[in-house]
Amino acid sequence: MNRAAAAVRAAVSEAESPYAGSEYDDLAAAFDDFDPVPERGDGLDAAVEWAADAVLANSALVSHPKCVAHLQCPPLVSGLVAEALLTAVNQSMDSWDQSPAATVLEEAMIEELCALFGYDTTDDDTSAGGDAVAGDDATADGVFTSGGTQSNFLGLLLARDRYVHEAWGRRAQTEGLPPEADSLRILCSEVGHFTAEQAAAHLGLGENAVVPVSTDDEFRVDPGALSATLDGLEADGKRPFALVGTAGTTDFGSIDPLDALADCADEHDLWFHVDAAFGGALALSDRHRDKLAGIERADSLAVDFHKLFYQPISCGAFLLRDGANYRYIARNEAYLNPERDDKAGVPNLVSKSVQTTRRFDALKPLVTFRALGREGVAELVEYTLDLADEVAARIAADPAFELVTEPTLNAVVFRYVPFRDHPTLDDGAWSDRVNRQVRRTLLHRGRGVVARTEVDGRVHLKFTLLNPNTTPADVDDLLVNVKQYGAAAESEAVE
Ligand SMILES: *Cc1c(COP(=O)(O)O)cnc(C)c1O
Repeated sequence: MNRAAAAVRAAVSEAESPYAGSEYDDLAAAFDDFDPVPERGDGLDAAVEWAADAVLANSALVSHPKCVAHLQCPPLVSGLVAEALLTAVNQSMDSWDQSPAATVLEEAMIEELCALFGYDTTDDDTSAGGDAVAGDDATADGVFTSGGTQSNFLGLLLARDRYVHEAWGRRAQTEGLPPEADSLRILCSEVGHFTAEQAAAHLGLGENAVVPVSTDDEFRVDPGALSATLDGLEADGKRPFALVGTAGTTDFGSIDPLDALADCADEHDLWFHVDAAFGGALALSDRHRDKLAGIERADSLAVDFHKLFYQPISCGAFLLRDGANYRYIARNEAYLNPERDDKAGVPNLVSKSVQTTRRFDALKPLVTFRALGREGVAELVEYTLDLADEVAARIAADPAFELVTEPTLNAVVFRYVPFRDHPTLDDGAWSDRVNRQVRRTLLHRGRGVVARTEVDGRVHLKFTLLNPNTTPADVDDLLVNVKQYGAAAESEAVE
């Protein structure tokens, strides 16, 4: 462990560039004659040395200030420490007897998270309710997950099964879907995450069951368009049953108007799921929490800790406003979670998850909050949002660039604008080609790891400024490189 830690320290803190620049083929060739399962071992020291050499030198170094591509965070040391502890004891969260303290601590963390998002966590109906939605006696619940993909799936699974039960008196868990399920529909922002469609496919509804809703010019669901879409579906005999709101779209960080979406969900009796995988961390910040207003009205929530909470992958949570909805996936297995345990009040968390064997990932935020406090983590988040605003202002002021929209979180999407024409390509195709080339050159020269996305079919560059160690000067360097490589790509093609 000490050797591994020393190797990481050397590779990460002394790295000059966020990526060594190798192409896929170079790495594939480098490992060509490598034997993954040798007959005899060389001992642990040699294996550690091998692993450090093989992995670290050619990793995307997320802790480098110029690694700004994806929602892939530099992990906090507190999270790494927790990772070492939780894997050393290898607790499994499926049954209490495999994870005694871990079960209790995960439950405590889930309860705190529910409260953070304004859910009612008291299990009696006489409570004052605090910020929670009044007039119902729901007690919130939830579970740690592998991330947003699984949390979104779980939300839509419960939504589907509740609808199937209420509309057709049928238990999807045992009887499957009725033929009428062809008409089920899920509504989601046109710039929402693809996992809504993926979940629909896995749920036997097909990806086409997800109806995209148009957004305004800041990439937030337009409530008017949502109502019109719902009216159209209902007139057409379709059965919308779930609405997915996004609190932090992956590309733009935009946050849907959650209160307006909750109103619409109430009116049309839809399950309201909020995908807060990216933006959920705003709940920690006194300055930014109000951007999530309405999130407490969601029936279920996805939040990721391996993004803006700076935890090692994987670490996410699924939160459920009314824990009673877990009944749709309830099952008892004699060897894991016999009914006898339920009656005796012994929790076996397998009944809240789609996983069986499951990591004690909750320890990572637990250790982190103990070390830094809520305020300490909030400061990291706030810094990156301020940085994104500053970077966006610089991009907007520079005629070499076109900024797509003001950032809501810390993603900044823009493109380099070519200053000359191409002899044959139209402006759009030409700009696509130059921007693609810029990203590749940044990566292969080891200058910066930057993402690419499409906006209205056009290639754009994206900085996801998750790293609290990235400074405005680092981003200025990147922008200088973007211009330089953009100009070079233009001359190369035109001259
Ligand atoms: C990252 C992300 C997901 C997918 O979550 P994983 O943690 O990668 O499984 C879903 N939705 C949004 C908005 C995301 O940013």
